[in-house]
Amino acid sequence: MNIVLLIPVALAWLGGLLVNYLSDTLPRTRRFSPPVCRNCESRIAWLDYLTLRRCQNCGIVRSLRTWLTQFILIASFLYVWLNPPKSLGLPLGLIVLLYFAVITVIDLEHRLILFPTSVFGALLGLFSGTFLYYSGFQKPLLSAIGISLLGGLIGFAVMFALYQVGTIVARYRAKKMATDGLVDDEEEALGGGDVYLAGVLGLMLGSRFIMYGLVVGILIGGVVSLALLLALIVQKRYTNNSLMTFIPYGPYLIAGAAYMLFRP
Ligand SMILES: [Zn+2]
Repeated sequence: MNIVLLIPVALAWLGGLLVNYLSDTLPRTRRFSPPVCRNCESRIAWLDYLTLRRCQNCGIVRSLRTWLTQFILIASFLYVWLNPPKSLGLPLGLIVLLYFAVITVIDLEHRLILFPTSVFGALLGLFSGTFLYYSGFQKPLLSAIGISLLGGLIGFAVMFALYQVGTIVARYRAKKMATDGLVDDEEEALGGGDVYLAGVLGLMLGSRFIMYGLVVGILIGGVVSLALLLALIVQKRYTNNSLMTFIPYGPYLIAGAAYMLFRP
């Protein structure tokens, strides 16, 4: 094995610790608070937390997600290290990857895209989008900034329009569940966070690529939803309500953007 590959592995491990910390604490407290146990909620010493030890109070081991995140990031960092994204460059590529990881983990676990992460994403998006067109496509600085901003606007507007359609579907669903005697669980097809996320991804991809990114993301989401639906039908667990079981769209939007950004 090439010894140099230990660099991305080590970076990925540290990045994974950061992603896990943010995913553990931000949805709970909305700020950088000290880590607590996911089971007994007692405070975990930083050293124990960062070495992924079990809780000293109740003895529960760290979550499967913690370990999955660490190892998926190692695989992703190695891939990006060996196939650096030409236009985005390696350092920025790795930072964007960590940002995508945080959003994906929090959205999958809580069906939530937090506003502070969207604000951070907007800054990162404007910076990396501008860098992409300025350095990668040799555009003058001002027009690179313009392309990034326009991309953000397009991403936001397209997802906002879809969100409006989603709201109508959700309202219909609530009415239908009320007639069926079910309590509305207030699920929405597209959360407001997805609209901000699409804006962030638009800033990153710029006006030239954001539509491709969105279409790829929505296609991936559609294929996965269809597969889940078929699995339910095959297991005969399909009910009329399954069709209405909505899934978090954030990870699919991110998959679409990542496909555009990290193509070798
Ligand atoms: Zn505990």
